[in-house]
Amino acid sequence: MSHFYITTPIYYINAEPHLGHAYTTMVADAIARSRRLMGDDVFFLTGTDEHGQKVERAAQKAGVPTHEFADRIAGRYQALFRVLDISNDDFIRTTEPRHIRAAQELWRRVRDRGYLYKSSYEGWYCTVDELFVPEAQLIDGTRCPTCGNAVERLSEQSYFFQLSRFQEPLLDLYRSNPEFITPEIRRNEMVAFVSAGLRDLSVSRTSFKWGIPVPEDPEHVMYVWFDALTNYLTAVGYPDDEPRFSRYWPADIHLMGKEIVRQHTVYWPAFLMAAGLDLPRRVIGHGWWLMNEAKMSKSLGNVVQPQGYVDRFGVDALRYFVLREMVVGQDANFADDTFLARYNADLANDLGNAVSRITTMIQRYCGGVVPEPSAAVPGPPDVELIRSADETIRRAKHAAGMFDLSSALREIWSLIAAVNRYVVTREPWVLARSPESRELLDTTLYNAADVLRIVAALVEPVMPSTTGRILKMLGAAGETWAGLKPGTLKAGATLGPIEPLFPRMEHTVDELRRMADTGAAAPISADASSSARVAEDKPVVTPSAEGEKITFDDFMKVDLRVAKVLAAEKVPNSRKLVKLSIDAGTEQRTLVAGIAEAYEPEQLVGRTIVMVFNLKPAKLMGIESNGMVLAASPDGGKPTLVGFDAEVPPGTRVR
Ligand SMILES: [Zn+2]
Repeated sequence: MSHFYITTPIYYINAEPHLGHAYTTMVADAIARSRRLMGDDVFFLTGTDEHGQKVERAAQKAGVPTHEFADRIAGRYQALFRVLDISNDDFIRTTEPRHIRAAQELWRRVRDRGYLYKSSYEGWYCTVDELFVPEAQLIDGTRCPTCGNAVERLSEQSYFFQLSRFQEPLLDLYRSNPEFITPEIRRNEMVAFVSAGLRDLSVSRTSFKWGIPVPEDPEHVMYVWFDALTNYLTAVGYPDDEPRFSRYWPADIHLMGKEIVRQHTVYWPAFLMAAGLDLPRRVIGHGWWLMNEAKMSKSLGNVVQPQGYVDRFGVDALRYFVLREMVVGQDANFADDTFLARYNADLANDLGNAVSRITTMIQRYCGGVVPEPSAAVPGPPDVELIRSADETIRRAKHAAGMFDLSSALREIWSLIAAVNRYVVTREPWVLARSPESRELLDTTLYNAADVLRIVAALVEPVMPSTTGRILKMLGAAGETWAGLKPGTLKAGATLGPIEPLFPRMEHTVDELRRMADTGAAAPISADASSSARVAEDKPVVTPSAEGEKITFDDFMKVDLRVAKVLAAEKVPNSRKLVKLSIDAGTEQRTLVAGIAEAYEPEQLVGRTIVMVFNLKPAKLMGIESNGMVLAASPDGGKPTLVGFDAEVPPGTRVR
């Protein structure tokens, strides 16, 4: 068994957690979960960075003792990670005794090997904020970016780390191990940075106390990075637990946002080389989430709070969106309309409907028991589907192995499309009508359910609870990726209760925007009873108001599609309404139509109709109708369904 150690950065507790922290942690979680499914012994670490003057001052401002403030913010991170279904094996806090011991031990090693010296640190100091301000952050080169007051030149005693000695060793490292920094653009930046020359690094302070005391010189506390980066050693047992340390160190992946790649690929390997310890294998710097093309930041007021999305759409929808949308290394835009479109198209429509239509047919045609496939009947569609499943397993595993979860998801979604096509080709609802096609029906539903099982297993790193829900509906057990292959779903298993995985959402983008602003959930707009379009006694097609003209764009908003009626029955206690189960190509739906006076239910089954596909659901006589059937409704006459003079497959768009 191979060991796999992955870390997120430890998050600095001077601010509340937001989407950026959530994203890094969700990516690390998906990688950790995929490794566990591949059979690795995984150690997944996250945590909080709690030292430094900014924390001390934030606590003073909040009027609480610093350690209490640290407990509070660290608690918020832990709570958020529970909400996000993060499977970390440890949560490290740099104020813990185990970490203080580790940082002091690393300091001694580096010092004893001759890489630390004492000198004076000179910089720009703000006496109002009592902070050194990096020169690059000064306003007009003279004023503090926080309070606007003039800064002054000040110097204090400090320990320095001889970073300047590591220019060649670092360039050697980047050359001999090109994958050490991923993606390549970050690597090129670091090569340029180091090639320009390195200055020694100030690694202690005497101007504040909230930090780890320097061994044998407790007037000094360690400065930020020396303390923080050491957490990656602490959590795997450094310096006391040698067996554990050698099991997991060096780390396989340090994952982080691109803004701290430098500290992880310059300072950190230099500290480790100075201490004579092994270097991490790979540092991955991901891009930023932009909101309307601008970086999220507190001061811009465009920070996305993950909680609101989780409350409204479920945690798996958020995990799916961010992992599908961002290609690691590039920036991505967090746009509410994209979120909504992906949710409705990929989750509600593709995945959700595949699961509900296939399980519903097994309930209806096979008594709720996974049917036995027949060896006698497979034809080209079965062979094609199984080949596609085999191929997807291989490709998705490969992409996950390269930490490219976006590509893995794209592969999995092509398999979902394949199983949807397979069902449409085979038309189980037609097969179910004649006893002689029983074997083909059983084989079809078995293969479709078997592919759903594979889809469920493959999405597990990204959507762990969705996996559990799909498998429960199929009456199947969880499995690792090692033996994952088509044809191993257990026939004869009883299905669990069918539940909708991802109900369609009709939020407006404005509502989502408000959610992002407040972090609170918006009210549901898809209130079926209030948005009912078709009343019992109105004609099915309501003409638009007299003389009102709509634009071409208005018209294009109406999604008209061809569908096929699978089943029809009269709605009890209603003269006009009939309930239809229809196949819209990509999914099965229920519609209620006011055509019962013109058509008997038997006449409707198998008939091709035209429907408004993107109408908000409405409840009619207690039945939810998802869409509207088009019919001509002459005054005083009976409605006549819109039809075609040639065969048109379900799902075809009408324009
Ligand atoms: Zn200031």
